[in-house]
Amino acid sequence: MTDRYSDLNNSLQKSIAIIGAGLAGALLATLLARRGWQVDVYEKRSDPRLQGYEGGRSINLALAERGRNALRQADADDAVMAQAVMMRGRMVHFLDGRVELQRYGRDDSEVIWSVHRGDLNITLIGLAERAGARLHFQQRLEGVDFDARTARFVDDRDGVRHETGFATLVGADGAGSALRAAMNAYRDLGERTDFLDHSYKELEIPPAADGGFRIEPNALHIWPRGRYMCIALPNDEKTFTVTLFMATASGDSHDPSFATVGTPAEARALFERDFADAVPLIPELETDWARNPPGLLATLYLDRWHLDDRAVLIGDAAHAMVPFHGQGMNCAFEDCVALANKLEGDADLAAAFAAFEAERKPNAAAIQRMALENYIEMRDRVDDPDFLLQRELEHALQERHPERFVPHYAMVTFMLVPYALALERSEIQREILVAATQGLGSLEQVDWPTVDAEVERRLVRLVDAA
Ligand SMILES: Cc1cc2nc3c(=O)[nH]c(=O)nc-3n(C[C@H](O)[C@H](O)[C@H](O)COP(=O)(O)OP(=O)(O)OC[C@H]3O[C@@H](n4cnc5c(N)ncnc54)[C@H](O)[C@@H]3O)c2cc1C
Repeated sequence: MTDRYSDLNNSLQKSIAIIGAGLAGALLATLLARRGWQVDVYEKRSDPRLQGYEGGRSINLALAERGRNALRQADADDAVMAQAVMMRGRMVHFLDGRVELQRYGRDDSEVIWSVHRGDLNITLIGLAERAGARLHFQQRLEGVDFDARTARFVDDRDGVRHETGFATLVGADGAGSALRAAMNAYRDLGERTDFLDHSYKELEIPPAADGGFRIEPNALHIWPRGRYMCIALPNDEKTFTVTLFMATASGDSHDPSFATVGTPAEARALFERDFADAVPLIPELETDWARNPPGLLATLYLDRWHLDDRAVLIGDAAHAMVPFHGQGMNCAFEDCVALANKLEGDADLAAAFAAFEAERKPNAAAIQRMALENYIEMRDRVDDPDFLLQRELEHALQERHPERFVPHYAMVTFMLVPYALALERSEIQREILVAATQGLGSLEQVDWPTVDAEVERRLVRLVDAA
């Protein structure tokens, strides 16, 4: 079947084809369908509402204010929040068995939420369909002829191919985007992927015998161990998804690694040595270990996100990042709102895509960098006395200068401050914190007049900067 663009040219001026009905694709479909676009979404997997969700990437995700703000614009926030579990802070599990909650914010208005990827995706797909988007499952994008404006899809169950015309394409097909590959083959996008030398593996803490949670539910649990770490996020069915992050290959500074801890028995030995309090919580440790292969982590950089008026990339397809700030989905959701806004009215598509790219690319680069930096903080610094003193000072300075000194985590997680601005201010704030706590053991020794003057001098009020 071939529907040529020439046939559609007049009737489908406001028609758009989205590749991927994942998190970003389904949300963008809703936003655009509600604004009167004719939206077709092509997804390589089966319909998760009928066949169940086919996993792949992480089982659950941390949802923060940026993501919630985007969901609100699609009236999706209530449905998503009904299944979300609040996480007030990091519950740090020390090697000696002590645990300590480090709050993320000042109170319960500054928290993050654990959401189940499959449930979230199903909710968003349902909303997209109700908004009028047409969803085509089992349709994997295989190739694009940009000159003829035709896209070729394959149904992987029977290998049947199907070609269709398009007015314009949006690539929401994730880190391994087929649309990106097709665009890059047509015109160099300046693509570079930096693989992290660490991978991850997921394990599960099931519900307790009484059906409740086995450990504190309203926290993101972390077992920081220097060069590696475990985290656990709660799920609303009273389980936790545990993720071990560790070096992929062995090497001098890479011990332990997935190369040296390969078998389920070696995994148990590692857990008994380094995550002893987690061992009784994971009864199927060996089975989970054997079943789930390590997942790779990478940062994707592109010089260009769009091909004139013919195609544009969003979410992981444009800027995949490592997961250590819990912002990949949140950033992808912000992309959806930004792109829908640029496409408002009779916007020229090429100009709208260019404006979208100009707005979002520096911000994506900033959160990609902050995500890489946060790995070191999570695995190595949250139990370090210098870091804890800096955090204390950070909160004190927030109290003293609420309009100027907003903690890094708050700017990224609880606010809509552009990521690039959050990064710029965080770097200045970090310099102030390090200088003011150098050689000190407690906040009582801080030279307040000097620190206050530095804050006044180097940080304009956030509202003026934004
Ligand atoms: C371990 C881990 C933990 C994470 N934790 C967090 C977190 O806590 N918070 C957070 O905000 N982010 C987190 N992320 C990042 C988050 O998962 C991604 O940023 C988010 O999924 C991006 O959404 P997306 O829609 O761009 O891509 P995806 O969610 O990957 O969706 C892509 C969709 O496209 C489909 N597709 C792929 N190829 C084709 C094709 N050829 N044709 C048609 N369809 C196709 C796929 O089947 C999928 O449905 C984490 C990532 C990982 C790996």
